[in-house]
Amino acid sequence: MSDCRDCLHEISDYLDGQLDPELKRVLEEHLVSCHRCKVVLDSTRKTIELYCDGKLFQLPGGVRERLHTALRQKLQDRQR
Ligand SMILES: [Zn+2]
Repeated sequence: MSDCRDCLHEISDYLDGQLDPELKRVLEEHLVSCHRCKVVLDSTRKTIELYCDGKLFQLPGGVRERLHTALRQKLQDRQR
């Protein structure tokens, strides 16, 4: 994980359990040393729980896609 931009880019996949194992390991290493990304991860996770009432993994595909799009947009906004 070279920088925070890469890290933030992978967070929604990470939370969805879709991340490549190697990438996940690198991401977790980055999160340990980077408070800023950890905060973004925690707030994104809370957003997902709020959206889905903790039922993320029971959502139909289309809903998940839209949620991911919304999250990516949100993360990109934070980077400006
Ligand atoms: Zn970072």
